[in-house]
Amino acid sequence: MGKGFFEVPIAVNEPILDYAPGSPERDRVLKTYKEMYNETIEVPLYINGKDIKTGDTATMAPPHEHKHVLGTYHKAEKKHIEEAIAGSLEARKKWSQMPWEQRAAIFLRAAELIAGPYRAKINAATMLAQSKTIHQAEIDSACELIDFLRFNVQFMTEIYHEQPESTSGAWNRLEYRPLEGFVYAITPFNFTAIAGNLPASAALMGNVVLWKPSDSQVYSAKVVLDVFREAGVPDGVINMVMGDPVMITDTVLDSPDFSGLHFTGSTTVFKDLWQKIGTNIHNYKTYPRIVGETGGKDFIVAHKSSNPRQVATAISRGAFEFQGQKCSAASRCYISKSIWDDVREMVIGDVNSFKIGSPEDMDNFFTAVIHEGSFDKLASYIDQAQIDQNAEIVVGGTYDKSEGYFIHPTVIKTEDPKYATMCTELFGPVVTIYVFDDNKWEETLQLVDETSGYALTGAVFSEDRYALEIAVRALEDAAGNFYINDKPTGAVVGQQPFGGARASGTNDKAGSKLNLYRWVSPRMVKETFVSPIDYKYPFLG
Ligand code: NAD
Repeated sequence: MGKGFFEVPIAVNEPILDYAPGSPERDRVLKTYKEMYNETIEVPLYINGKDIKTGDTATMAPPHEHKHVLGTYHKAEKKHIEEAIAGSLEARKKWSQMPWEQRAAIFLRAAELIAGPYRAKINAATMLAQSKTIHQAEIDSACELIDFLRFNVQFMTEIYHEQPESTSGAWNRLEYRPLEGFVYAITPFNFTAIAGNLPASAALMGNVVLWKPSDSQVYSAKVVLDVFREAGVPDGVINMVMGDPVMITDTVLDSPDFSGLHFTGSTTVFKDLWQKIGTNIHNYKTYPRIVGETGGKDFIVAHKSSNPRQVATAISRGAFEFQGQKCSAASRCYISKSIWDDVREMVIGDVNSFKIGSPEDMDNFFTAVIHEGSFDKLASYIDQAQIDQNAEIVVGGTYDKSEGYFIHPTVIKTEDPKYATMCTELFGPVVTIYVFDDNKWEETLQLVDETSGYALTGAVFSEDRYALEIAVRALEDAAGNFYINDKPTGAVVGQQPFGGARASGTNDKAGSKLNLYRWVSPRMVKETFVSPIDYKYPFLG
C-alpha cells in the first residue's frame, strides 16, 4: 500500500435466503440442480493455471442416489504434486509482494460472485455432492463462505493496524510477512465453506497454497475453484489436487519448503500428520505452522429446571440437521430424570415428522449420509445397540442403502454413561441419551467433562442461574464453543469464532483474527533517523 490508508467495506453477515415455495431463489436453485444433475462433468487437477487431466479418474455421485453419475475427477501422480509445489514457490515471488489491497479485492470479489451469480450453482453443487437440504447448503456454501471471505479481509486489515510504539528518533514498523514456503490445505467433505476458507485464508495473507479437497466433496470444490479463478487469484497461488491422500501428503511433507498445514478433518488423520511433520522436522527451512480443527463428541446437558420443548428442539436440530455430519452436532445428551418423559415424547414426535429423501424435494428435512463407509459404520453401531442389554433404541434404528445411503435418525438411550456411542465420534444421525438423577447435577457435569477426549462444542440448558453458573465453570475445558440454552451447532462467522481444544484441534478459531495470525511471520523493522556516532555512553564520563 503506497498511496493511501484504505478502509475495506465493513463486513456484514450475508443474509440467509429462505427458499420458501414460490420464491425466486427456490426456482433458481431447483433449475440449476436439475441442469447439473442431468449433465456430467470432468474435474481436472488445477496446477499453476492449467487444467490437468491425468486419465486416472474416480466417479462422483450424489449420496442420496449413489448409482447416478455426476462426473469424474482426475487423480494426481507424485510428479504433479512436485510440479504444483515448484510452481507455487515461483508464484510466491510475485504474490507475497502483492499490495494487500489487491489481495483483499480478489477475495471480496469472490464473496460477491458467490452472493450473486454463483449462489444457485454453489448451493446446487453442495446439495448434489454432500446431500445437503437447501437450507443447509445456503448456510454453508453460500453464506458461511461469503462471511469467511468478507470478515477475513476485515480481520487482515485489523492485524496490519496492530503496530508497536515509535519515538521521535526511531520508527518501529511491524510487517506481517506471509510464511516462507507454501501452505498445505486439507479439507473435509462436510462444509463447502471450510473447503474454500482453508486455502483462501492463507492465500489472503500472502501465502501460496496447495489445496487437497476431500474425495467426497470434489464436485462442489470445483465450483469454489471456479469462483477463485474468476475472482482473479493468480496462477499457482491456489493449486487444487486430488488423489491418494497418503501419496500427496508424503510428497508435500518431504518438501523443505513446506511451511504450514491448514487442516480440518478427523482426529486420527490430524495426529498422524502431526507425527509425520515431527519426523521430518530437520528437513524444513522453517518450523511449520500446524492448524487443525478435528473431531468432536458434542454434548447437551439439561438441568431439571430447563424447558423440555427447548431441549427437545435442540436435540432434533442439533443432532439431526445435515444427518448429524457437523463436527458440532450433538451426539451425547444428559437429561435430568424429571423432564425426560416430556423430552422423549417430543423428540420422538419430531423425528417421526421428519420427511426423508432427496434434497431436491424441498419438503425433506433429512437426506443421506456421505458414503458407504460411513453408512456401514453407523449401521454396525445401530445393530450393536439393538442387541446390547444396556442400550435401547428410542426411535429410528433402521437403514437402507439400496438407492442412497439413508440412515434413519436414531435415538439410543443407555444406562451406561460410558457406553460406546456416548464416547466415540460416529459422525452421523445417531444421538445417545443418558438420564441422570435430578439431584446429581455436579456429578453429571463431571461425567460430561471426563467422558470424551474431545472438547469441541457443548450446550447446557437451565432456567436456574445457580445451576447454570456451576455448569459454566465445571465445563470450562470441555468445549471450545459453549452454548447456554441453545443447540451446540450453527456458529456464525464474525459472531461465534469456531474451534475446539483437547483432541478436537488446535483451537485457532476459524473465522477470526486468531486463525489469520497463524499464516504470517512478522518482521520487525526499526528505522533510526539519526544514528549515533560515538560508542561511549554518558556514564562512562
Ligand atoms: P477425514 O479425516 O476422513 O478427511 C479429511 C481430509 O483428510 C480429506 O481431504 C481426506 O482426503 C484427508 N485424508 C484422509 N486420510 C488422510 C491421510 N492418511 N493423510 C492425509 N490426508 C488424509 O474427515 P471427513 O470425513 O472429511 O470429515 C469429518 C471429520 O472432520 C469429522 O471428524 C469432523 O468432526 C471433522 N470436522 C471438524 C471440524 C472442526 O471445525 N473441528 C469441521 C468439520 C469437520
